[in-house]
Amino acid sequence: MTTPQEILSMLGDEKIKMVDLKFVDMPGTWQHLTLYYNQIDEISFTDGVPFDGSSIRGWKAINESDMAMVLDPNTAWIDPFMKEPTLSIICYIKEPRTGEPYKRCPRVIAQKAMDYLVASGIGDTVFFGPEAEFFIFDDVRFDQTANAGFYYIDSIEGRWNTGREENPNLGYKPSFKGGYSPLPPIDNFHDIRTEMLLTMADCGIPVEKQHHEVATGGQCELGFRFGKMLQAADWLMTYKYIIKNVARKYGHSATFMPKPIFGDNGSGMHTHQSIWKNGQPLFAGDKYAGLSETALYYIGGILHHAPALLALTNPSTNSYKRLVPGYEAPVNLAYSQGNRSASIRIPLSGTNPKAKRLEFRCPDGTCNPYLAFAAMLCAGLDGIKNKIDPGDPLDENIYELTPEVLAQVPSTPGSLELALEALGKDYKFLTEPGVFTEDIIETWINYKLHTEVNSIRLRPHPYEFSLYYDA
Ligand code: GLU
Ligand code: MG
Ligand code: MG
Repeated sequence: MTTPQEILSMLGDEKIKMVDLKFVDMPGTWQHLTLYYNQIDEISFTDGVPFDGSSIRGWKAINESDMAMVLDPNTAWIDPFMKEPTLSIICYIKEPRTGEPYKRCPRVIAQKAMDYLVASGIGDTVFFGPEAEFFIFDDVRFDQTANAGFYYIDSIEGRWNTGREENPNLGYKPSFKGGYSPLPPIDNFHDIRTEMLLTMADCGIPVEKQHHEVATGGQCELGFRFGKMLQAADWLMTYKYIIKNVARKYGHSATFMPKPIFGDNGSGMHTHQSIWKNGQPLFAGDKYAGLSETALYYIGGILHHAPALLALTNPSTNSYKRLVPGYEAPVNLAYSQGNRSASIRIPLSGTNPKAKRLEFRCPDGTCNPYLAFAAMLCAGLDGIKNKIDPGDPLDENIYELTPEVLAQVPSTPGSLELALEALGKDYKFLTEPGVFTEDIIETWINYKLHTEVNSIRLRPHPYEFSLYYDA
């Protein structure tokens, strides 16, 4: 734990000159405001630093725009991408008039979810371990003036032309689905990933490993240790920031969009989770795969609420282009030990009960991690409270099941619109514990429908040219 005094003692003419305040908006993107060091004092950690909240996506109207950013002293690190010595601090948002935490601030919502876990009496700590995959592409620019906002048409496959020659493969380049795990020079992203990982370590994140992923050249994953919910979400935001900025330094761009390339694996954000009480893991037991009854009910809650949950864990139109059979992404709502085609996997964890956890494989990197983690916890706790039976595990390869057997297994929603519709009907598990408000659910659904679902629906798609141009 770091105190405000410890932070203040780092600031000064000869040391840190600037303090960069970062906060997360509703869709899950960091925003920032940079202050000269002498503008930060003890009050910044209690009442906060005032700013205009009216331009922030999903927040206040112009007539009630005054907000305050409250600095969290436990989140400070030196920002490696700013030229002058700059201390980065993550904030939560407060309403200056009432002094209350702002109910639409994602960090406030994550804190409420952790408080609810304690109040429920079920546990006192929840750990999350997100694994966000991403692609590194050349730093091509979108042609914003083009008709549909695209800069490409691949007339054969409707594939995203990344600005590189994708065919033919003349040398050291992995084929589609061939990226895991040849050595350099086929893996020519090794050094950039190492630089990303070491930069994360410098920023205080407990890093573990890095590797190329299954998709063709440029799909990558870096691993860091699991953490308590709020901290894990803060680390994930830092992870994305570092990856994008290191990529940019080398003339590349990094994207967490779930399905940038048609016909190859997409990028998920598998999320490991476990609940603890009094220092004891609650998910280890003598049931299936070494799980406890509590863990099985938690799984029951996630699977039961999954159609609605996905509106928060997979909240982009592109998310549902990943959730299709054949690409290691989950399609069916089932659980299994080891089976990567199930949406919940129980990783082998040896004999150590502390390592017992479940991996929800649906989420992707377009989610707001604070909202997604809070929602997953609420779904799991609802399962525990209401003893929701997860049914039998599914240990076969789900992709190889007969249509008759498969028909019995519920599937993930086929589109963002369907997930939002499910959330509109099933949100009480989020609002009754006092974690989300009905206002947030309504704002989320409307924002996503108007800004994303309808915007995509209204635009001609590149592949429509292939289908219909010569009609
Ligand atoms: N990229 C796969 C996905 O979309 C996951 C691959 C893996 O198991 O790491 O979920
Ligand atoms: Mg992976
Ligand atoms: Mg995984």
